[in-house]
Amino acid sequence: MKQITDLKEVKDNLPIKTENMSGAIADLNQNDNPGKNTRVAIIGGGLMGMALAHRVSELNTTVKVFESGSQLGGLSTHHDYGDFSWDKFYHVIVPTDGSLINLIKDIGLEEKLRWSRSYTGYYVDKKFHSLNSPKEFLLFPLLNIWDKVRLVFTIFYGGRINDWKKLERTTVKDWLIKMGGKKNFTKFWEPLLLAKLGENYKRVSAVFIWTYIRRLFKAREHPVEKDYMGYVSGGYKTVFDRLKDLLAKKGSSVMLNTSVESIVLLADGGLEVRYNDKIEHFDKVIFTAPINILEKVTSPTLFEIKKTDKSIEYLGVVCLALVTRKPLTPFYVLNMGDVNTPFTGVIGISSLVDQEETAGNYITYFPKYIPSDHEYWDMSDEAIREIFMSGVRNLYPDLVDDDIVSTHINRAYKVQPLQVLNYSGIIPKIKTKHPDFFILNTSQFVNDSVNNNRVVQHVDGFMEQVAKELEKGPITNLR
Ligand SMILES: Cc1cc2nc3c(=O)[nH]c(=O)nc-3n(C[C@H](O)[C@H](O)[C@H](O)COP(=O)(O)OP(=O)(O)OC[C@H]3O[C@@H](n4cnc5c(N)ncnc54)[C@H](O)[C@@H]3O)c2cc1C
Repeated sequence: MKQITDLKEVKDNLPIKTENMSGAIADLNQNDNPGKNTRVAIIGGGLMGMALAHRVSELNTTVKVFESGSQLGGLSTHHDYGDFSWDKFYHVIVPTDGSLINLIKDIGLEEKLRWSRSYTGYYVDKKFHSLNSPKEFLLFPLLNIWDKVRLVFTIFYGGRINDWKKLERTTVKDWLIKMGGKKNFTKFWEPLLLAKLGENYKRVSAVFIWTYIRRLFKAREHPVEKDYMGYVSGGYKTVFDRLKDLLAKKGSSVMLNTSVESIVLLADGGLEVRYNDKIEHFDKVIFTAPINILEKVTSPTLFEIKKTDKSIEYLGVVCLALVTRKPLTPFYVLNMGDVNTPFTGVIGISSLVDQEETAGNYITYFPKYIPSDHEYWDMSDEAIREIFMSGVRNLYPDLVDDDIVSTHINRAYKVQPLQVLNYSGIIPKIKTKHPDFFILNTSQFVNDSVNNNRVVQHVDGFMEQVAKELEKGPITNLR
């Protein structure tokens, strides 16, 4: 088959211009035979790729998912902790995650969805504080009554702001101080920001905290009690196993350990996907992996990317998962006000998850969000383990060696883009240039954090727009 490698060649070959893609789809000479089973490749087996594969496979299509890793799930994948497997990084579902919950129901896992009361703690000035009821809030010793009134006002007011664009122009620190005062900031908000972003919060805009407050505020209006958090029994592995089984039942499939090396547009219709020294032909390709991979495996024939001179900085995460014989913390999140700890928060997943899920053990995560030039990336797991464990022992001096079952250091290099000032103006605008090629990834989230509810919403929105186009065959006879 003839390959097209040059953009001009594609444009010359197309019967009409592709700038207005939906118009182009309608007008192009497509194979619109309803009896035809369209072959669709999906690149990336994270939640975006697998939720999409599930939806696309319900159409008149055959889907193949390509995943470079040895297991499905991407950032939501599982880890072998010895006697049990659980999420590699901590994941919870909140009651307002409607799209994600719908997906879980849709794939028949509603009965495996569990909800538990979640508790939040603050560690400030070497003391643990519980902040889980109005009474505890009133008794919280670090803020006076006037600070508390201002804190409630900040949450109430922030939850009602709709125009997030205005918030992009001010730093989260300035906005929170303006709303609630300096003391509220240092004693309440700063530990929370440190837990999520490390020192990098100083460059982040107020949109970051706005999304957080809105989630909190929405939860109050939700029928499921606001302080409950959920998980699927067996962790995200259960979700990915089910998605994979459902695909197989529909004649679709997943290829693990398969890194897609290139995607090439063919002159006589469809695209070629190259992997592991093989070449396979598809009618449509949907790409869900990160942008830097997109730029590596495709040519500008297929997509257009508009970048500003400011590049997007990503935070990665280094995370100690500590498996113990006894519970370490009653809190799901312990926000760290003590800047000297090597981690930026303590996530007590076992305060939510039934001990049967973790073979009678308790699992606690100690994450640190760091930029791409942080020294931790060059350090061995052993060195990081030593640093983090000394922080754990400072925090929990009663912990003895016999209590520890195992320790695991996991890393993810690119997790969360730093939503700096005017972030929406600097995110690269990616546009597909061909109606048989689609791009769908988290880099396009402008006013939200990277979370799985948003991922499923993104997939649902995409399907509403293009489901019909996917069932059509490839564009043919470009010449
Ligand atoms: C520490 C941490 C905590 C989190 N907590 C929560 C939480 O509590 N709740 C929540 O909702 N979300 C949480 N998230 C976010 C959640 O993990 C992400 O929303 C989700 O994983 C994004 O899915 P994705 O498919 O878009 O990307 P990814 O998971 O990154 O998937 C992309 C996939 O593409 C594959 N790939 C890359 N290149 C190629 C190639 N050339 N060929 C084939 N495949 C390729 C990768 O291997 C990867 O599997 C958390 C994330 C982290 C790191």
